[in-house]
Amino acid sequence: MDGFEYTYKERQREHALALVLAILLNIFLPLIAIMAINFIEQHSREGTTGLPKHVIQLVSEAIDSASSELRRLNLEIWNNPETRFKEEKACKLLAGWFESQGWTVQTGVYGISTAFEARFSVTPGERSVCYNAEYDALPELGHACGHNLIATSTLASAVGASAAMKEMKIPGTLIVMGTPAEETGGGKYIMANHGAWKDCSVVLMTHAMPDFSTARIVTKASWKFRAKFHGKAAHAAAAPWNGNNACDAIVMAYNGLGLLRQQIQKTESIQSVILEAGKAPNIIPDYAEGSFSLRAFDSKALERLRSRVIPIFDGAAASTGCTVELFWDALYEDVVTNMTLANRYTHYMINDLGLTPADILPPSDLSAKVDQNGSSDFGNCSYIQPGIQTLFNINATDMPHTPSFQKAAGTDFAHTEALRAGKANALIGLEVLLDEGFYKEVKSDWINDMKERGRLPE
Ligand SMILES: [Zn+2]
Ligand SMILES: [Zn+2]
Repeated sequence: MDGFEYTYKERQREHALALVLAILLNIFLPLIAIMAINFIEQHSREGTTGLPKHVIQLVSEAIDSASSELRRLNLEIWNNPETRFKEEKACKLLAGWFESQGWTVQTGVYGISTAFEARFSVTPGERSVCYNAEYDALPELGHACGHNLIATSTLASAVGASAAMKEMKIPGTLIVMGTPAEETGGGKYIMANHGAWKDCSVVLMTHAMPDFSTARIVTKASWKFRAKFHGKAAHAAAAPWNGNNACDAIVMAYNGLGLLRQQIQKTESIQSVILEAGKAPNIIPDYAEGSFSLRAFDSKALERLRSRVIPIFDGAAASTGCTVELFWDALYEDVVTNMTLANRYTHYMINDLGLTPADILPPSDLSAKVDQNGSSDFGNCSYIQPGIQTLFNINATDMPHTPSFQKAAGTDFAHTEALRAGKANALIGLEVLLDEGFYKEVKSDWINDMKERGRLPE
């Protein structure tokens, strides 16, 4: 009995121990498994950041061997500057080139006759990568904003990415969007309103800068408008009481905006010019017109500023017995930089494409150098899909929109740098097509950015 009792108790203890062990294992095993999976995932992501070296080499070589052909197209655009909505030669040149490379091309798309869309695919896939090509110039100054280089860089991305897709049978689609009228006219605003970029997974492009490179452009949201006041003409001496003075109305609006400037944010600005306010002092003016521009930190802040500006015009019209009409131009949204894409662009530039960390500002750098109060209609794309507009150094002695920048935009050096930016964007694009995990990170960043800006429900 004793022996049996001893064995029985022993077994009971063993059972209890086994039970406790089983419970502990049940709790900790899944935890250990999760930790292991996380470790492996993190480790493999760190170990394989970016594409394999042979793909990078393939892309780089394809672009380098197309360099002289791309230089010819670059100079053709640079030597034939065309301003907004008149970019016929550039549109024809680029669309024709994509056709000759076997891409499916359509011109006169999304509401603009000088816009085009080119598509390339080897096998169907879920994701598509869009590269924007700008090619509009400035009146008098020619390509003083270097949009010939944007077109060149996008051609380079198209050459590099399509070569890899052919060689490796990568599923998915490349899209090149020819986007006119960036300087004024809001080409991308019009194209977006006609449904452009809706089926793209990401949108990538670049822009030249005089003396620095970075993957993150910082721009303001901006909106221009015209105001037209209608009054009633009268003899200014004989019967001024019969008139409603449109000149007075626009002066009141002008001054009202001046007073409002005292109460706006440091990141906001209002510019005004009066274009017409009467013909002769002995006639009460029945018509006045002005042009105005608003800028703010982002589109949300711009909407708030706009709601403070409109009543000034209504008030000026009401107090003079006039009427007013406001004509809103294209809205340029602020650029929302996708940080996953920006970090990866910087990674390729430093690790694979020959820049040193000193050559490219990190995406976290928001110094005054990067934030120059400008605007870009790429902002509109960045609210439709995740994207980046990177900046590359062309060693110019002055800012864009100057004669010396125009000269720099035509040099061999600028061409080489446009190709380098095109290579980085080609690599990012391929990674979006190849790596679902990477794309998920990109998309989840974008969703958070949009939620923060009130553009997607929380
Ligand atoms: Zn410009
Ligand atoms: Zn520009």
